[in-house]
Amino acid sequence: MQPEIHIDPQRLNQRLVELAQFGALPEGGISRLALTDADKSGRDLFVSWLRDLSLDVRIDQVGNILAFQPGRGDAQPVLLGSHLDTVRAAGPLDGALGVLAGLEVLQTLQELDIHTLRPVALVAFTNEEGARFTTDMMGSRAFCGELPVEDAWDVTDFEGVRVGDELRRIGYSGDFPCGQVTPAAYLELHIEQGPVLYQERVTIGAVEAITGISWQAVTITGAANHAGTTPLDARRDAGLAAAKVIQYLRELAQFLPDQRATCGRLSFSPDVINVIPGQAVLTVDLRNGEDAVLKKAEQQLAEYLAALAEGENVEVTSRILMRVSPSRCDPSVVTWVETAARGLGLTCRRMVSGAGHDAQIMAHTCPTAMIFIPSQNGISHSPAEYSRPKDIEAGANVLLHTVLGLADGGTG
Ligand SMILES: [Zn+2]
Repeated sequence: MQPEIHIDPQRLNQRLVELAQFGALPEGGISRLALTDADKSGRDLFVSWLRDLSLDVRIDQVGNILAFQPGRGDAQPVLLGSHLDTVRAAGPLDGALGVLAGLEVLQTLQELDIHTLRPVALVAFTNEEGARFTTDMMGSRAFCGELPVEDAWDVTDFEGVRVGDELRRIGYSGDFPCGQVTPAAYLELHIEQGPVLYQERVTIGAVEAITGISWQAVTITGAANHAGTTPLDARRDAGLAAAKVIQYLRELAQFLPDQRATCGRLSFSPDVINVIPGQAVLTVDLRNGEDAVLKKAEQQLAEYLAALAEGENVEVTSRILMRVSPSRCDPSVVTWVETAARGLGLTCRRMVSGAGHDAQIMAHTCPTAMIFIPSQNGISHSPAEYSRPKDIEAGANVLLHTVLGLADGGTG
C-alpha cells in the first residue's frame, strides 16, 4: 500500500458545496426529492463532471447514472456509489458524499495515471430515500433485478405522478438495461447517521452488516369503563397493557445482543381522561444485524403478547407492516476496508449499520462493504447533519485505497 496516494480534499468539498445548491432551502437544509427539478439539476451537474473526465456514461432504465473507467483487463468492475436524492430538509452529505467521493477516486486514478486491472465504475442510484416515491432503494433494487423495471416505473408519488413519466420529463429515462452489470464488488462511503464513531472518536467504521428491520402494529382490546367505579380486578385496561409492551421492548433490547426495540406510535380509545382505555394501538420497530436474533426478538415479543393477553384479560393481535432481513457484508471486502484505514494510520472499528442503504441490496448480488465516517452528534436527515472536513477526506482516502486493493485482483 502507498499511503502517499490520496484524493484532493478541496475539490471534493467544493463539489459537495456546489451540489448542495440544488434543492437548498431558504431556512437552511436541502430538499432534493427523487426526480424533481432539483434532482434533475443535481444530476445534470454530476453528469457534466463525469463527462469532463471523458468517462463512459450510461443512464439505465430506472435513471441510475453509471460511469465506467476501463481497467487493464475487461473483468467485472469494482463499483462505487450511493445516491443523490435526499429526504425533505436534509443535510448535504447523506448520499452525495458516497457519489462525489467515488468521482474523486476516479479522477485521482486518472491524474496519477493508475490503471487498475479491473475497471472501476461509479453509480448514483435513483430514489434511495423513498421520501417521494415510497419504494426506497428503488434504483439498487432494479439494478439487481429484485424490482422489475416496469414495476419501478409504475410507482406513484402522493399526487399520483408515475416514476416512468418523471424519468422522461427530467431526461433520465435511459436505455442501458438493468441487470447488465454484475460488479466484482460494491463499495459505499456514507456518513454513519448515528453516534457511535463520534462518541468513540473513531474515524472509520468498517460496516460488517446492515440492520434488518421488522415493523408491526399491535392492537390491544380491553373494555372501556369508568375510571372511578371499576374495581382493579374487574378492569380490562388496554392502556396498562400497552405500557407493559413498551416496558418489555426495553427489556428485549437489553437482553438480546445489539437489539433495538422501539414503540414510536401509541393511541388510545376512547382517549378520555376519566375512562379506562378500551383499545390501544401501538407500533413496534425491531432491528438487528443478525437475522437469527431478529427472529428471536419477534418470537419473544409474540410470546410476551400472548402472556399479556392472558394476564391482563385483554385481546392482543399483531400485524407485520414491513420486514427486511439484515444483509451481511463480505468479510474479505470488510478486511480490505480495515487494511486501507490502518495503512493510512486511521482509527477503525467494525460496526453494524442501523439505517438502510443501497449497499444492503447490492450485498445480495456481489461482495459488498460500506465505509462510515462520524456524524457530529449522530444527527442526519436534518439540516444539522455535519461531518468534519478531515473525516470526509479520511473516508474518501479509505475508499480510494480499498478500490486500489480490490481492483488489482483483490476479489475472489
Ligand atoms: Zn443515504
